[in-house]
Amino acid sequence: MRVVAPFSAAQVQRLNEIQADVLSDYPKFHPFTCGNRGDHSHAPVNSVTDVLVATSAGWICPYCGATQDWAYLAMAEPHPRAAEFQASIDALINRNGILANEAMLSRVEGAIDAYRALSASLKLSLNQSADNAAMRAWEATEVMLECLNRRRVVLEGVEGDC
Ligand SMILES: [Zn+2]
Repeated sequence: MRVVAPFSAAQVQRLNEIQADVLSDYPKFHPFTCGNRGDHSHAPVNSVTDVLVATSAGWICPYCGATQDWAYLAMAEPHPRAAEFQASIDALINRNGILANEAMLSRVEGAIDAYRALSASLKLSLNQSADNAAMRAWEATEVMLECLNRRRVVLEGVEGDC
């Protein structure tokens, strides 16, 4: 089953956590990538930013501005039993102490660094020639950064409780 844009704020958050691989949820999803990813303008394959970014208007490639308007329902919405999964994940994290959470936090921070660098370089090229695709690409990195910062706040909150 598929959901079609516009995506809700909660869907955008979840989809981008999946894309950046910072969702401590089950099951694990393969991120969506751009059909033009072989182009020289794109990030090297397997870099953190080599994925589509979810926005309320749909997916946007942060390199070429390509768009896609649908996601799998299972990506966009938590599984009906997600609360049970989350409970066992939380139990695991507690058993392993603070480490699991810290590892996720450092992954989030690495992704934030990567998207900050990408956003800054896109902003520079915007000043030279602003077409719609370039503007869309830059806006997508800003949406991803908001989602990653929200994820960081949640993880820091968990850490504070330990
Ligand atoms: Zn692209």
